[in-house]
Amino acid sequence: PVKQTKKTSAKEAQSIVTADDAISTKVNVSLMDIISGMKERGMDMPVLLRFENLIEDRLTKLNEAFANAIKESSYQNYYRGVFPIKVNQQAQVIEEISEFGSRYHHGLEAGSKAELIIALASLTDNDACIVCNGYKDDEFISLGLHAIQLGINCFFVVETLSEIPLIIAASTKMNVKPLIGVRLKLASKVDGYWSSDSGDRSIFGLTTSQLMEAVDQLRAADMIDCLQLLHCHLGSQIPNIQNIRSGVLEACRYYSELSSEGVPLGYLDLGGGLAVDYEGAYTNSTHSMNYNLDEYCADIVEAIIETLDPLGIKHPVILTESGRATVAYSSVLLFNILDVTHFEPAPIPKVIAEDASELVKNLHALLEIITIRNVQECFNDASHYRDEIRENFRRGRETLRSKALGENIYLAILQKIVLLLPQVKRMSTELENLPESLADIYYGNFSVFQSLPDSWAIDQIFPIMPIHRLDEVPTRDAILADLTCDCDGKIDSFTVDGVHRKTLPVHEVKEGEDYFFGAFLVGAYQETLGDLHNLFGDTNVVSVRINSDGSYDYVKEMEGDSISDVLSYVEYYPKALTERFRQRAEKAVKSGRINVAERQTMLRNFSESLGGYTYFEK
Ligand code: PLP
Repeated sequence: PVKQTKKTSAKEAQSIVTADDAISTKVNVSLMDIISGMKERGMDMPVLLRFENLIEDRLTKLNEAFANAIKESSYQNYYRGVFPIKVNQQAQVIEEISEFGSRYHHGLEAGSKAELIIALASLTDNDACIVCNGYKDDEFISLGLHAIQLGINCFFVVETLSEIPLIIAASTKMNVKPLIGVRLKLASKVDGYWSSDSGDRSIFGLTTSQLMEAVDQLRAADMIDCLQLLHCHLGSQIPNIQNIRSGVLEACRYYSELSSEGVPLGYLDLGGGLAVDYEGAYTNSTHSMNYNLDEYCADIVEAIIETLDPLGIKHPVILTESGRATVAYSSVLLFNILDVTHFEPAPIPKVIAEDASELVKNLHALLEIITIRNVQECFNDASHYRDEIRENFRRGRETLRSKALGENIYLAILQKIVLLLPQVKRMSTELENLPESLADIYYGNFSVFQSLPDSWAIDQIFPIMPIHRLDEVPTRDAILADLTCDCDGKIDSFTVDGVHRKTLPVHEVKEGEDYFFGAFLVGAYQETLGDLHNLFGDTNVVSVRINSDGSYDYVKEMEGDSISDVLSYVEYYPKALTERFRQRAEKAVKSGRINVAERQTMLRNFSESLGGYTYFEK
């Protein structure tokens, strides 16, 4: 939410984060105030800013929404959430989830041995569950059985039939009764980007005949009483509530059939999928959702009641593995703008020299005659002359200066056309796209690949906006480019007021003044999936906690990767690099190229660079 606070209105309008302190008190804090506090504490941009309250708030909202839905419909069991560690494995985040989640016995989902180790060491509440998904080897299974020995509700969710003999063998050997779940391959297909997580061709889960075989194998081993959980996951970011409803109904059919077969199920795990409205539009588009949290919970609870009540089957404990919807809100990537490229022409001479080429003269003449009525014609002619100039240049018939003049006039023509376009009723796609092709490029101090990888990989839209000067009309349109030298290192997909656009309205950057942006809802998947493209490392991370009186505390500060850190990730040894550089400098001293004092300055700079931040530093 963006609004002006009393404190900031005199200064400038700034982006405000509204946090629900615990459950009900709404307080506003200014991101710009937080940034100045960070600056004083030596934390440079870019910074990943985490709000502890927002993790607590989401856990509260999710658990309370299920509790309400359960109460409203007199559902005869309870809800247990588990957070999938893969969505944000950072120690701070998992610590916060374990701490705040214990109020609701919120547990963790682990998809690998490493994640199970995190879960075992982080959860202190024995009423919370650990759900183990993913392929499991003996070591994974032993760890899970140790959890059972410690009194933790740790479920092995069987993804493939080959895991069953391993679980039977290990639990017999260790004399521990495991808790087993089976993952179903549901036929229900979902909308959105992750639709391949469900349906016959999904790579996870058991087909119906494999499910029957799993039941038979466990029965034969006298372990059918261990099969207590049914699991399905339709996909992440499910935008359409109808899909969720039909998936739950299908899962309930399996639940009822297995129960009727005498399988003593007690838990129904519906996986993740609860969406985040990245576009603020509440539509069923990929980056949005056409439902809210209360509706999600109510629909799940009702679908279970609807299927199981007529058959007299006891209501199961409901589990969900909401990841995105739990942590996306808690992080904002803050970055500053370093430079801007405008696509503006240089001043055009009033008169073109007599000896200029005909093509340049033609372009110059066009500039004078553009009107609303002939924009398309002028655009076509200008493009033709510009292409001819380029062709002639290639063939040595046009000079470099002539080409420069021609292209500058062409740019002036395009800019003139763009100004007229709002008055043109019908236009070609070329003209429609013209404003975007002339938009500014704002160079931000961040790496898309490190901090917003889904924006690059799957065209995920994140809410991105300047976080100050919000009482000024934005007069420019821009795309954002990052620091990497990669043509994919840009963001040119935005949703503004519910409309999808390739450019973002921004302010003119003022000489000598900082201009800050925030990329919001980045707490899910981005930190984990980010990579070291061009060796830009982890950003600085600051966690704040907002108090009910509107003040806030900087509760955690973590410096981002230094250059030395990222070099060591790719197997360089900073000490060895320094030694090699020293030898080179020493050679240069010997040959008289530099003196010893210059050598010392170089070595000092080299060593300071190794210890420095990987991003642009002022
Ligand atoms: N559970 C499983 C098995 C998953 O594969 C995923 C992610 O795709 C999740 C939970 C988390 O999904 P989401 O982040 O949409 O809640």
